[in-house]
Amino acid sequence: MRSSAPELRCSQRMLRCPPVPCVLVTMLPTSRRARLFISVLLILAGAVLAAGWAVRQAERHAMADDAARAGGQLVLYGNTLQTLIERYRALPAVLALDPEIRSALLGPVSPEAQDALNRRLEKINGAAQSSTLELLDRNGLAVGASNWRLPSSYVGHNYGFRPYFLQTKAQGVGRFYAVGVTSGIPGYFLSNAVTNDAGEFLGAMVVKLEFPDLEREWGQGDDLLLLSDAKGIVFIANQSGWRYRELLPIPASDRAELAATRQYDKQPLSPLQSHVLREFSGTSHLTRIEGPDGTADYLWESLPMAAEGWTLHLLRKPQLLAEDTRNAALAAAGTWLTLVFLGLFLYQRWRLARLRQRSREELERLVEERTRDLRTAQDGLVQSAKLAALGQMSAALAHEINQPLTTQRMQLATLRLLLDHGRIDDAYKALGPLDQQLTRMAALTGHLKTFARKSPSGLRERLDLAAVVDQALLLLEPRFRDEGVSTVLDMARPAFVRGDAIRLEQVLINLLRNALDAMRDKPVKRLEVRIEPDSKPQHWRLTVSDSGDGIAEEHLASIFDPFFTTKPVGDGLGLGLAVSYAIVHETGGTLSADNQGDGARFTLTLPTETEA
Ligand code: ADP
Repeated sequence: MRSSAPELRCSQRMLRCPPVPCVLVTMLPTSRRARLFISVLLILAGAVLAAGWAVRQAERHAMADDAARAGGQLVLYGNTLQTLIERYRALPAVLALDPEIRSALLGPVSPEAQDALNRRLEKINGAAQSSTLELLDRNGLAVGASNWRLPSSYVGHNYGFRPYFLQTKAQGVGRFYAVGVTSGIPGYFLSNAVTNDAGEFLGAMVVKLEFPDLEREWGQGDDLLLLSDAKGIVFIANQSGWRYRELLPIPASDRAELAATRQYDKQPLSPLQSHVLREFSGTSHLTRIEGPDGTADYLWESLPMAAEGWTLHLLRKPQLLAEDTRNAALAAAGTWLTLVFLGLFLYQRWRLARLRQRSREELERLVEERTRDLRTAQDGLVQSAKLAALGQMSAALAHEINQPLTTQRMQLATLRLLLDHGRIDDAYKALGPLDQQLTRMAALTGHLKTFARKSPSGLRERLDLAAVVDQALLLLEPRFRDEGVSTVLDMARPAFVRGDAIRLEQVLINLLRNALDAMRDKPVKRLEVRIEPDSKPQHWRLTVSDSGDGIAEEHLASIFDPFFTTKPVGDGLGLGLAVSYAIVHETGGTLSADNQGDGARFTLTLPTETEA
């Protein structure tokens, strides 16, 4: 039923906007709507940020993995190259010990000897599968070479300017990668000094290695492989356009050296523009390169080859699986939203609990306040009912006091006469009844004063129920006498209970007056009051029975209701029994009514007071 209002409004607006959420939002005050809007915006922004972060993490992770894999592959490539070089490293040293080769350098070489040397070097070169073998004399002049048949034959050329020759002359061994000045083919020159028995330098035995197979083999993969020298110049690459690129800025001194050694001879060198985007380790980073095929990002792995002074590079285009990144983004956004909604749910629960707690406290406070008001109202009602009863009894009570006063005046006149006649003894005798009457009147007015007083509610004193009945009977005695009611009193004494004596007396006055009212027009008026132990243990039972007409069956259920009366207007207020019922219950007892014989019987039970 509660949702009927929004539904109604929703159906009215149905044509203009999507139903429930729209209506719910438009129903909110502007400030709340703005707050809701900002919250939704923040949550969405959070989801986007989380997704972005996750994508970056996934990328970073994938790239780090890729870099590690590339690093592993690079080591394999490096090992292959290293093995290849190692295989030929010993060749010039071994050949340098060859007596025929040594003897060729001892003196001027005859054409026949040179021919024999050329053929020999050609043969060894074929067997060792090196690219070229050459023998240089002490000045760097090639006296023999395996490629003697080719137009690009080294024989007769001087290579004294080449660093490997100078190294060999100075240190006994040399190594140098260079573009062949004669052949134009790049290769790695490994050389060893040829000495005489005295250890004097006679010349250099040189083996040249070209790497066409290697470049071809490397060219099969998707990865880009580059080999750079100590100056940072790429001299081997498995893809065209990458060779003879400068990876580092080359200082002028190095340029002069390059020109002197003719290392790359006529090959033009050009710088390779790049900048590092992200670094994974000292030898591994993500780099943006302006390569021959345009600008692209590469995972760049480097492996230094200490023995050669070279560096092997592996460049790989990072391959990110769109699916992986999308999944990572979705998972992150999902986690973020779950956390947000969990937070909201917990916050709502907390707010609800606080709200409940507050309303409970408020309710308790209200109940307390109302209870206080009710008690005050009830006290007022009890007092009003008592005063009303007193008002109705006042005429009889005034009569009760007035009558002895008349008698006393007569007795005083008699007394005066007796004194006039000097009958002192008789006068003393006549004073007795006067004294008794005055004592009785004092007791009655004294009690009336007490009864009219507003007794504080909740008073609980130890009292004798029979004494309470006595007091009530005292106040009603004039009516009993005037209306000729015979009373039967059968009361256990003392019948101790705990309660408010004045209030219990008010109950008894109500019961007794109702009994008197019920018997007003009856020829036989008989009232019984009994106090005896109740069937319920530790309880007293007090019954008031009359010989009136009894209570009509249909009224039995209503007589304790406030303002229920069958008496004529002015006689009854209908409050007596309701107030009595409340007083008895407040004292911890019960009050009930039934019919017995001709009349009604009211039964009151109260817990026995055992403490002294
Ligand atoms: P009130 O006396 O002002 O009518 P009560 O609450 O004292 O108010 O009594 C309510 C009604 O209960 C009486 O009007 C009467 O009808 C009925 N009632 C009470 N006591 C007796 C009784 N002893 N005999 C018959 N009816 C009685």
